[in-house]
Amino acid sequence: MTAASTQERLAALQKEIVRRNPAQPEFHQAASEVLQSLEPVLTARPELAEAALIERLLEPERQVVFRVSWQDDEGRARVNRGFRVEFNSAPGPYKGGLRFHPSVNLSVVKFLGFEQIFKNALTGLGVGGGKGGSDFDPRGRSDAEVMRFCQAFTTELYRHIGAGTDVPAGDIGVGSREIGFLFGQYRRITNRWEAGVLTGKGTGWGGSQGRTQATGYGNVLFLAEMLRRRGQDLAGRQALVSGSGNVAIYTVEKLHELGARALTVSDSAGYVVDEKGIDLELLKQIKEVERGRVRDYAERRGASAVYVPGGSVWEVPADVALPSATQNELNVADALTLVRGGVQAVSEGANMPVTPEAVRILRDAGVAYGPGKAANAGGVAVSALEMRQNSGRETWPRERVENELASVMRDIHEVCWQTAERYGTPGDYVTGANVAGFERVTEAMLAQGLL
Ligand code: GLU
Repeated sequence: MTAASTQERLAALQKEIVRRNPAQPEFHQAASEVLQSLEPVLTARPELAEAALIERLLEPERQVVFRVSWQDDEGRARVNRGFRVEFNSAPGPYKGGLRFHPSVNLSVVKFLGFEQIFKNALTGLGVGGGKGGSDFDPRGRSDAEVMRFCQAFTTELYRHIGAGTDVPAGDIGVGSREIGFLFGQYRRITNRWEAGVLTGKGTGWGGSQGRTQATGYGNVLFLAEMLRRRGQDLAGRQALVSGSGNVAIYTVEKLHELGARALTVSDSAGYVVDEKGIDLELLKQIKEVERGRVRDYAERRGASAVYVPGGSVWEVPADVALPSATQNELNVADALTLVRGGVQAVSEGANMPVTPEAVRILRDAGVAYGPGKAANAGGVAVSALEMRQNSGRETWPRERVENELASVMRDIHEVCWQTAERYGTPGDYVTGANVAGFERVTEAMLAQGLL
């Protein structure tokens, strides 16, 4: 196939995605971002375009959409929608988190599931891609309400999951509390203590050490490696972090450990900038113990911290940026501001946080850019290590998990780097991640025949 005819085929595919999946803009965005990287690999390896491999890759193997009815504390019946999209299981069982957030719909779940295929392939740990969740909003709900919701959700989900089939975990709005409730209901319905059916469990009952920290830690390790390749060091750098969930908190922790200073965190209402660097103990107390807001952080921190309602952390000048909140949180105007402020590197802790046009601006300005499917793969990597521990009924010490995480992140960086070189785009982690992930998954699909 020539480059021109491959381009034509990819353009036709893009149109087809929009036609066949109407009103799914996030899914279109994620799919188109990958397709744009594939021309060189399809031209060089035409066998990976045969047998409708790309068409198959774009179509989830199975999509489950279901009603979740539950009772609130006033005794009223409530109804939400649940999702599980089992996208691709050629490399291993479907694997990916559950997101509980009012913005969740089929488009969001499909974009996340599609990204997950490539991310999981990059880890090299034998996991396929899937994602799920619900438009349920846990904010303001009591523990008892969250428990009843999780039980109702599992009453349908349990029949679709299993240690060798599909292994959910957390994402936005789903942490160890929710995983506990989901696991409890699975155990009750199936009468099986099947540790490997969910990851992100508590460490006292089958969970892995270091899973909570893994996404944030992994992203900082990836960023450090990107800088190292440019002859730069993370130590002494000023960093912007958005979000204030699990990913953001442990991004701040690792940044500080490596000698950088995290200046910001945010939530949907505003952001805080702390010129002394974010005080981790205070942040953890407010977010993990009290389930509070970043405004509370600013109120209690004292003179060094300022709370900015509305606004975005990207207004603050810094050396590196780690978007760790949610999709499309960093747009063209933000990218221009960051470039003007002299940003050197942007590494994605969230999934698809930088819009495609903003990515172009960063890359054109020579900013090192680590796409989420590579940079934030640490979370799912430690989930895969949790699956390993579960299948051997083992408990690994924290140090072993952290060493393995560091080595997976180094390997992911290396495979992205090498792949970008091989296809003539040195230093381009987007091509590196998309093409390396694509090669691994399609090789597995090809070997397993038409299904
Ligand atoms: N939700 C996380 C992600 O976006 C982790 C998924 C998992 O651990 O399975 O990769």
